[in-house]
Amino acid sequence: MTQDELFKVLVAHCKEYGFIFPSSEIYDGLAAVYDYGQMGVQLKNNIKNYWWEAMTRLNENIVGIDSAIFMHPRIWEASGHVGAFNDPLIDNKDSKKRYRADVLIEDYLGKIEEKIEKEVAKGRKKFGEAFDEAQFRATNPNVLREQAKWDEVHNRYVAAEKANDFAEYRQIIIDCNIVCPISGTCNWTEVRQFNLMFSTSVGSTADGANLIYLRPETAQGIFVNYLNVQKTGRMKIPFGIAQIGKAFRNEIVARQFIFRMREFEQMEMQFFIKPGTELEWFKKWKETRMKWHVNLGMGAENYRFHDHEKLAHYANAATDIEFNFPFGFKELEGIHSRTNFDLGNHQKFSGKKIEYFDPEENTSYTPYVIETSIGVDRMVLAVLSHAYTVEELEGGDSRVVMKIPAPLAPIKVAVMPLVKKDGLPEVAQKVVDELKYDFSYQYDEKDSIGKRYRRQDAIGTPFCVTIDHDTLTDGMVTVRERDTMQQERVKIEDLRALIEKKVSLTTLLRNL
Ligand code: ATP
Repeated sequence: MTQDELFKVLVAHCKEYGFIFPSSEIYDGLAAVYDYGQMGVQLKNNIKNYWWEAMTRLNENIVGIDSAIFMHPRIWEASGHVGAFNDPLIDNKDSKKRYRADVLIEDYLGKIEEKIEKEVAKGRKKFGEAFDEAQFRATNPNVLREQAKWDEVHNRYVAAEKANDFAEYRQIIIDCNIVCPISGTCNWTEVRQFNLMFSTSVGSTADGANLIYLRPETAQGIFVNYLNVQKTGRMKIPFGIAQIGKAFRNEIVARQFIFRMREFEQMEMQFFIKPGTELEWFKKWKETRMKWHVNLGMGAENYRFHDHEKLAHYANAATDIEFNFPFGFKELEGIHSRTNFDLGNHQKFSGKKIEYFDPEENTSYTPYVIETSIGVDRMVLAVLSHAYTVEELEGGDSRVVMKIPAPLAPIKVAVMPLVKKDGLPEVAQKVVDELKYDFSYQYDEKDSIGKRYRRQDAIGTPFCVTIDHDTLTDGMVTVRERDTMQQERVKIEDLRALIEKKVSLTTLLRNL
C-alpha cells in the first residue's frame, strides 16, 4: 500500500469506528470541518488532559485560563492579524483549484528530499556493514544532482519569503514545472494575498453592528489577561499561562483530513520571562516539549525540529516540532520566542500599562514571551496515523489494530462473558462494577470471542477481560493484552492494579 492509500484507509477506519466524521455529512459535508465521534472525543480529551496536567500540575508556576472566542476587534489590529495574517494563494486556470504557493514549493522540495533518502537507502542495502553514509552523500552522482537542485530552489524560496516577493514564488513554480495535481498543467494565475480570519458581527441591528473576528489563535486571550492573572495569582516572573480552545482560520488549502481544518483546537502556553533570558528559555521549552512527545512511545525517530529561516514579525527565534505523518514530516507544534511584541502592542493600542515590577531588581519591564503552540487535532492525527497497524496472524488471518498509547486509548478495558448464560454475564457485571470508577470500559457479549477481540483491536482497547466457567469456581479471569495478544489468568481483585499500571495518566506524567 502506498502512503496515500494508507491514509485513505485510515480516514475510512476513523469513520467506521466512531473516531471522526465529516461535519454535516447528511448534507454532503462542509469542507475542512470535522466532528469527533464517541471514540474520537475520548482520545481527544485524553490528549488534552495529558497536555493540561503536564503544563499546569507539573509546573508550579504555570496556571490555566479559558478565555472567550469573541474578543475586542482592536486586539487583532494590535496582534498584527488584520494587517499580516495572510497566505499567498495561487489558482490553476484549467482546474480552477486554489493552492497555497508556499505549500506547492515546500511539497516540491519534500519530494526531492524523498528521492535523496531513497538513494541513500539503496546504498545502505547495497554496501551493508561497510556503508559510509556521509561519504555516499558527498560522492554519489544521483544524490549530488538532487541535492544541487534542492539547494537552488530552497535558496530562491527563502529569499522570496524574506522579501515577500510573490512574483518570485510564481516564477519558482513555473521554473520547476510544478503542475496542478488535478489538471496536470502549469497554467497559473498571479500569487495574491488572502486574509485568513473569519469575521462576523455583534449587535442586534445591522446599523449598530460591529465587525468582530473569530479568533485565529488562542494566544491573544492569554496576552490580554496577563495583568489579571499576574495580579490575582500573585505570579512572579518567570511564569506561564496555559489555555486550550477553539481557533478558526479560513484556510485556502483545506485538505489532508484533520491536519488542516477551518475550525480546530489549540493548546497554547505563553511563558513570561525577563528580557535577555529568552534564548535560554527557548532552549528549555524546546527540550521540554520534545520530551512530552517522545514520552508517548511513538518513536523518537518520528519527530524532528525544523528551525525557521524566516521569522514572523514578532519572533526572534522559532522552531517547529515536525511529526512523520503518512504524507511526510509536517508541523505538529510551534515554539516561538515572541519578544515583548504582543504585550508591547496591547499596551500601545489599549493605552493601559502592561508591565511587571521586579522586586529583586527594583525595576519594571514589559516581559518577553516564549510560546508553545500545538494543534489538538494534529496531535489526534499523529496518534491515529501512527497507531493504525495491519497484522498478519497465524492461519492466514489478519487483524487491524490501533496501537494507541495506552493512557490515551478511548476505551481502556473491555469486559466479556465467554457465553451469554450460566451466570457468566452476572459475574462480568460485577467485574464492570469493580472497574468502572477508574477506567472507561465497554461490555460486550455479542458474537464469538475472536470477533469481539477484533472490534476492540480496531478501537485500540489495551485490555480485554474474559469471564469463563472456571471464573465461577476460581475467581480468576483471562486478561488479553492488545499488542502482544498474550493472555494471562488474573484474580478479579488484582485486575484494577494490573490495568492501572499500563493505562494511567499518572504513570505517563511520572515519566516526564
Ligand atoms: P501551518 O504552517 O501548517 O499553516 P502555522 O505555522 O500557521 O501552521 P501556528 O500558527 O504556529 O501554525 O499554529 C500552531 C499550531 O496550531 C500548529 O502547529 C498546528 O498544530 C495547529 N494548527 C494551525 N493551523 C491549523 C489548522 N488549520 N488545522 C489544524 N491545526 C492547525
